[in-house]
Amino acid sequence: MQRHALEQDQAYFDFFPVPDNIAGYVWDFPTQINGEPMRCWGIYDTNLLAGQERPPLKKPLADEMARHGFNLDDHELKGHPIRWYDPFNPISVPRVLLVGDAVGADPIFGEGISMALGYGAIAAQEINTSIRRAEFSFSGYKRRLVWSGLGQTLLARWVITQIIYPLKWRWFQILLWRFLKPIVILVAWVFVLNWGKRIRT
Ligand SMILES: Cc1cc2nc3c(=O)[nH]c(=O)nc-3n(C[C@H](O)[C@H](O)[C@H](O)COP(=O)(O)OP(=O)(O)OC[C@H]3O[C@@H](n4cnc5c(N)ncnc54)[C@H](O)[C@@H]3O)c2cc1C
Repeated sequence: MQRHALEQDQAYFDFFPVPDNIAGYVWDFPTQINGEPMRCWGIYDTNLLAGQERPPLKKPLADEMARHGFNLDDHELKGHPIRWYDPFNPISVPRVLLVGDAVGADPIFGEGISMALGYGAIAAQEINTSIRRAEFSFSGYKRRLVWSGLGQTLLARWVITQIIYPLKWRWFQILLWRFLKPIVILVAWVFVLNWGKRIRT
Protein backbone atom coordinates (compact mmCIF):
# COMPACT_ATOMS: atom_id res chain seq x y z
CA MET A 1 0.00 0.00 0.00
CA GLN A 2 1.19 3.50 -0.67
CA ARG A 3 1.73 6.06 2.07
CA HIS A 4 2.44 9.71 2.14
CA ALA A 5 5.72 10.40 0.27
CA LEU A 6 7.30 12.20 3.25
CA GLU A 7 7.21 9.02 5.32
CA GLN A 8 8.50 6.68 2.61
CA ASP A 9 12.02 6.44 4.05
CA GLN A 10 10.86 5.88 7.64
CA ALA A 11 10.41 2.57 9.45
CA TYR A 12 8.28 2.21 12.55
CA PHE A 13 8.20 -0.31 15.39
CA ASP A 14 5.32 0.28 17.82
CA PHE A 15 5.00 -1.75 21.00
CA PHE A 16 1.47 -0.57 21.82
CA PRO A 17 -0.02 -4.15 21.73
CA VAL A 18 2.11 -5.29 24.72
CA PRO A 19 -0.32 -4.13 27.45
CA ASP A 20 -2.98 -6.23 25.70
CA ASN A 21 -0.79 -9.34 26.16
CA ILE A 22 0.62 -9.37 22.65
CA ALA A 23 4.31 -9.41 23.52
CA GLY A 24 5.68 -7.87 20.35
CA TYR A 25 5.11 -4.91 18.07
CA VAL A 26 3.36 -3.63 14.96
CA TRP A 27 5.75 -2.72 12.15
CA ASP A 28 5.39 -0.39 9.20
CA PHE A 29 8.41 -0.49 6.88
CA PRO A 30 9.17 0.99 3.46
CA THR A 31 9.55 -1.51 0.65
CA GLN A 32 9.34 -1.71 -3.13
CA ILE A 33 7.18 -3.89 -5.35
CA ASN A 34 8.10 -3.86 -9.04
CA GLY A 35 10.08 -0.68 -8.40
CA GLU A 36 7.04 1.03 -6.83
CA PRO A 37 7.54 2.45 -3.32
CA MET A 38 5.16 0.59 -1.01
CA ARG A 39 4.75 -0.08 2.70
CA CYS A 40 4.97 -3.45 4.44
CA TRP A 41 2.86 -3.78 7.60
CA GLY A 42 2.88 -6.61 10.10
CA ILE A 43 2.62 -7.70 13.69
CA TYR A 44 5.18 -9.73 15.66
CA ASP A 45 4.29 -11.73 18.75
CA THR A 46 6.77 -13.66 20.88
CA ASN A 47 3.77 -15.49 22.43
CA LEU A 48 5.31 -14.81 25.86
CA LEU A 49 1.94 -13.59 27.15
CA ALA A 50 -0.16 -16.05 25.15
CA GLY A 51 -1.63 -17.66 28.27
CA GLN A 52 -3.49 -14.45 29.14
CA GLU A 53 -6.62 -12.87 27.74
CA ARG A 54 -5.90 -10.91 24.58
CA PRO A 55 -7.46 -9.76 21.31
CA PRO A 56 -6.96 -11.67 18.04
CA LEU A 57 -3.53 -10.86 16.55
CA LYS A 58 -5.14 -9.13 13.58
CA LYS A 59 -6.94 -6.55 15.70
CA PRO A 60 -4.04 -4.27 16.74
CA LEU A 61 -2.69 -4.40 13.19
CA ALA A 62 -6.11 -3.52 11.73
CA ASP A 63 -6.55 -0.72 14.29
CA GLU A 64 -3.13 0.78 13.52
CA MET A 65 -3.71 0.57 9.77
CA ALA A 66 -7.12 2.18 10.22
CA ARG A 67 -5.43 5.01 12.13
CA HIS A 68 -3.41 5.64 8.94
CA GLY A 69 -6.46 5.39 6.68
CA PHE A 70 -6.07 1.78 5.48
CA ASN A 71 -8.41 -1.19 5.74
CA LEU A 72 -6.62 -4.45 6.54
CA ASP A 73 -9.32 -6.43 4.75
CA ASP A 74 -8.37 -4.74 1.46
CA HIS A 75 -4.87 -6.24 1.57
CA GLU A 76 -3.24 -9.63 1.33
CA LEU A 77 -2.39 -11.10 4.73
CA LYS A 78 0.28 -13.75 5.32
CA GLY A 79 1.27 -15.54 8.52
CA HIS A 80 4.63 -17.13 9.38
CA PRO A 81 5.79 -18.94 12.51
CA ILE A 82 9.15 -17.92 13.91
CA ARG A 83 11.39 -19.82 16.31
CA TRP A 84 13.31 -17.62 18.70
CA TYR A 85 16.55 -18.29 20.52
CA ASP A 86 16.43 -19.75 24.00
CA PRO A 87 19.72 -20.73 25.69
CA PHE A 88 18.11 -24.06 26.61
CA ASN A 89 17.36 -24.99 22.97
CA PRO A 90 19.39 -28.04 21.90
CA ILE A 91 21.64 -27.00 19.02
CA SER A 92 23.40 -30.22 18.02
CA VAL A 93 23.59 -33.97 18.46
CA PRO A 94 26.38 -36.20 17.15
CA ARG A 95 26.64 -35.81 13.36
CA VAL A 96 23.92 -33.10 13.24
CA LEU A 97 24.24 -29.41 14.00
CA LEU A 98 21.62 -26.71 13.66
CA VAL A 99 21.97 -23.18 12.31
CA GLY A 100 19.74 -20.17 11.70
CA ASP A 101 16.11 -20.31 12.75
CA ALA A 102 16.54 -23.98 13.64
CA VAL A 103 18.53 -22.72 16.65
CA GLY A 104 16.64 -19.49 16.99
CA ALA A 105 16.23 -15.90 15.84
CA ASP A 106 16.46 -12.80 18.03
CA PRO A 107 13.49 -12.92 20.41
CA ILE A 108 13.08 -9.16 20.90
CA PHE A 109 12.40 -8.25 17.27
CA GLY A 110 12.38 -11.56 15.38
CA GLU A 111 15.54 -10.47 13.54
CA GLY A 112 17.22 -13.52 12.05
CA ILE A 113 18.91 -12.82 8.72
CA SER A 114 22.22 -11.57 10.11
CA MET A 115 22.04 -14.25 12.82
CA ALA A 116 21.61 -16.98 10.20
CA LEU A 117 24.83 -15.78 8.55
CA GLY A 118 26.58 -15.70 11.94
CA TYR A 119 25.47 -19.23 12.79
CA GLY A 120 26.85 -20.35 9.42
CA ALA A 121 30.31 -18.99 10.23
CA ILE A 122 30.41 -20.69 13.64
CA ALA A 123 29.07 -23.99 12.29
CA ALA A 124 31.73 -23.89 9.58
CA GLN A 125 34.46 -23.52 12.22
CA GLU A 126 33.05 -26.48 14.17
CA ILE A 127 32.80 -28.63 11.02
CA ASN A 128 36.35 -27.68 10.04
CA THR A 129 37.66 -28.79 13.46
CA SER A 130 35.62 -32.01 13.26
CA ILE A 131 37.01 -32.88 9.84
CA ARG A 132 40.57 -32.31 11.03
CA ARG A 133 39.95 -34.56 14.03
CA ALA A 134 37.76 -37.06 12.09
CA GLU A 135 35.36 -36.85 15.03
CA PHE A 136 31.80 -35.64 14.51
CA SER A 137 30.17 -35.38 17.92
CA PHE A 138 30.05 -31.57 17.49
CA SER A 139 30.49 -31.41 21.23
CA GLY A 140 32.31 -28.06 20.99
CA TYR A 141 29.58 -26.30 19.03
CA LYS A 142 27.57 -25.00 21.99
CA ARG A 143 30.69 -23.62 23.69
CA ARG A 144 31.79 -22.03 20.42
CA LEU A 145 28.38 -20.36 20.02
CA VAL A 146 28.16 -19.20 23.63
CA TRP A 147 31.58 -17.49 23.47
CA SER A 148 30.97 -15.87 20.10
CA GLY A 149 29.67 -12.35 19.51
CA LEU A 150 26.52 -13.96 18.12
CA GLY A 151 26.02 -16.11 21.23
CA GLN A 152 26.51 -13.09 23.48
CA THR A 153 24.01 -10.93 21.62
CA LEU A 154 21.47 -13.78 21.51
CA LEU A 155 21.77 -14.31 25.25
CA ALA A 156 21.51 -10.56 25.92
CA ARG A 157 18.46 -10.33 23.67
CA TRP A 158 16.86 -13.34 25.40
CA VAL A 159 17.38 -11.75 28.83
CA ILE A 160 16.03 -8.39 27.61
CA THR A 161 12.98 -10.17 26.14
CA GLN A 162 12.24 -11.81 29.49
CA ILE A 163 12.18 -8.32 31.07
CA ILE A 164 10.61 -5.92 28.59
CA TYR A 165 7.60 -7.98 27.53
CA PRO A 166 6.38 -9.38 30.87
CA LEU A 167 6.61 -5.80 32.26
CA LYS A 168 3.69 -5.12 30.01
CA TRP A 169 2.09 -2.06 31.63
CA ARG A 170 1.41 0.80 29.26
CA TRP A 171 3.29 3.28 31.49
CA PHE A 172 6.36 1.02 31.50
CA GLN A 173 6.33 0.59 27.72
CA ILE A 174 6.04 4.37 27.23
CA LEU A 175 8.79 4.98 29.82
CA LEU A 176 11.06 2.44 28.16
CA TRP A 177 10.64 3.28 24.48
CA ARG A 178 10.13 7.07 24.76
CA PHE A 179 11.68 8.48 27.95
CA LEU A 180 14.52 6.01 28.45
CA LYS A 181 15.43 6.10 24.77
CA PRO A 182 19.06 7.23 25.35
CA ILE A 183 19.59 4.34 27.79
CA VAL A 184 17.90 1.89 25.40
CA ILE A 185 20.21 3.07 22.61
CA LEU A 186 23.27 2.70 24.87
CA VAL A 187 22.30 -0.83 25.99
CA ALA A 188 21.53 -1.76 22.38
CA TRP A 189 24.89 -0.40 21.24
CA VAL A 190 26.87 -2.27 23.90
CA PHE A 191 24.99 -5.57 24.20
CA VAL A 192 22.77 -6.02 21.15
CA LEU A 193 24.33 -4.48 18.04
CA ASN A 194 27.77 -4.79 16.42
CA TRP A 195 28.06 -8.45 17.40
CA GLY A 196 29.40 -9.31 13.92
CA LYS A 197 32.65 -7.53 14.84
CA ARG A 198 32.99 -9.77 17.89
CA ILE A 199 32.82 -13.16 16.11
CA ARG A 200 35.80 -15.19 17.36
CA THR A 201 37.66 -17.48 15.04
C1 LIG B 1 7.36 -11.99 8.25
C2 LIG B 1 8.80 -12.07 8.66
C3 LIG B 1 9.57 -10.94 8.61
C4 LIG B 1 10.91 -11.01 8.98
N1 LIG B 1 11.64 -9.85 8.91
C5 LIG B 1 12.94 -9.92 9.22
C6 LIG B 1 13.73 -8.73 9.10
O1 LIG B 1 13.26 -7.65 8.76
N2 LIG B 1 15.05 -8.83 9.41
C7 LIG B 1 15.61 -10.00 9.82
O2 LIG B 1 16.81 -10.03 10.11
N3 LIG B 1 14.87 -11.12 9.93
C8 LIG B 1 13.55 -11.12 9.63
N4 LIG B 1 12.81 -12.25 9.74
C9 LIG B 1 13.45 -13.50 10.21
C10 LIG B 1 14.29 -14.11 9.09
O3 LIG B 1 13.51 -14.20 7.91
C11 LIG B 1 14.76 -15.49 9.49
O4 LIG B 1 15.30 -15.45 10.80
C12 LIG B 1 15.83 -16.00 8.53
O5 LIG B 1 15.31 -16.05 7.23
C13 LIG B 1 16.32 -17.37 8.96
O6 LIG B 1 17.19 -17.89 7.99
P1 LIG B 1 17.40 -19.45 7.88
O7 LIG B 1 18.38 -19.65 6.78
O8 LIG B 1 17.70 -20.03 9.22
O9 LIG B 1 15.98 -20.06 7.50
P2 LIG B 1 15.08 -19.79 6.22
O10 LIG B 1 15.33 -18.42 5.65
O11 LIG B 1 13.71 -20.16 6.65
O12 LIG B 1 15.65 -20.84 5.17
C14 LIG B 1 15.38 -22.21 5.32
C15 LIG B 1 15.27 -22.78 3.92
O13 LIG B 1 15.21 -24.20 4.00
C16 LIG B 1 14.22 -24.66 3.11
N5 LIG B 1 13.78 -25.97 3.60
C17 LIG B 1 12.96 -26.24 4.63
N6 LIG B 1 12.80 -27.55 4.76
C18 LIG B 1 13.54 -28.14 3.79
C19 LIG B 1 13.78 -29.47 3.42
N7 LIG B 1 13.23 -30.50 4.07
N8 LIG B 1 14.57 -29.70 2.37
C20 LIG B 1 15.17 -28.69 1.70
N9 LIG B 1 14.97 -27.38 2.01
C21 LIG B 1 14.16 -27.12 3.05
C22 LIG B 1 13.14 -23.59 3.17
O14 LIG B 1 12.33 -23.63 2.03
C23 LIG B 1 13.99 -22.32 3.24
O15 LIG B 1 14.32 -21.86 1.95
C24 LIG B 1 11.48 -12.23 9.39
C25 LIG B 1 10.68 -13.38 9.44
C26 LIG B 1 9.36 -13.29 9.10
C27 LIG B 1 8.53 -14.54 9.16
